[in-house]
Amino acid sequence: MEWLPPGWCPSVVVIDIDGTITDGEKHLSMEAVQAVRELEEAGIPVVLATGNVRPITYGLWRFLGLSAPMCCENGGVLWHPDWDEPVLRASATEAKEAAVWLANEIDGVNPHGIVTNRWRESEWCLYPDEPLEAIVQAVQRSPWAHLSVVRTGFAIHLMEPHLSKGEGLSVLFEKMGWSVDDALCVGDAPNDLPMFELLHWSVAVGGAFESVGEAASVVSPHPHGATFPPLVEAILARKAGDVA
Ligand SMILES: [Mg+2]
Repeated sequence: MEWLPPGWCPSVVVIDIDGTITDGEKHLSMEAVQAVRELEEAGIPVVLATGNVRPITYGLWRFLGLSAPMCCENGGVLWHPDWDEPVLRASATEAKEAAVWLANEIDGVNPHGIVTNRWRESEWCLYPDEPLEAIVQAVQRSPWAHLSVVRTGFAIHLMEPHLSKGEGLSVLFEKMGWSVDDALCVGDAPNDLPMFELLHWSVAVGGAFESVGEAASVVSPHPHGATFPPLVEAILARKAGDVA
């Protein structure tokens, strides 16, 4: 299959984590790990673009052996360990205040939310099984009506509406002096759509949401992490061909 457009080779590769280099059980794909390392060894930096918080993303970044900055919390937090401070594109403070207020308004809502909130810097996440409709209605008549209420498989996010992987990556690319025309991205879920729109070439892994497959430049015939060995082989072959 043709993984890349004719005559083009990415100089940066951006990858989602959950459902892209992991399976549905959140287990990391060993073949994806191996392939991602090959990209870095060939001098193609790999950016993690994820909804995960910074400490979790950093752990994976470190153990994968990556070199590029990370885009965490769906674009809310940009960071490289060499930077003094992360770039925070929103604050979790208001979202947390909204969660505490919601717990008083709606019986049974747990304001502490999901376990990773203790490290969350740009938004706040309630449990995914909290009453979404009641929460949406309450937030609309609250002092936090400017916040978005978005349910994913993992949480109900209370977040500033401008945050997305596309917005975050656009800031990251500018900071690094990279062009979006040179970047390929890989993802599986609707939170990847803004990065598909921003970057030149997008690959949906097998098992991706239908809307994500439709939006992608190419759809992998292989599930999740099994996408990476043939994709990376195609990239490295193209790179070698370009040099020759
Ligand atoms: Mg995903």
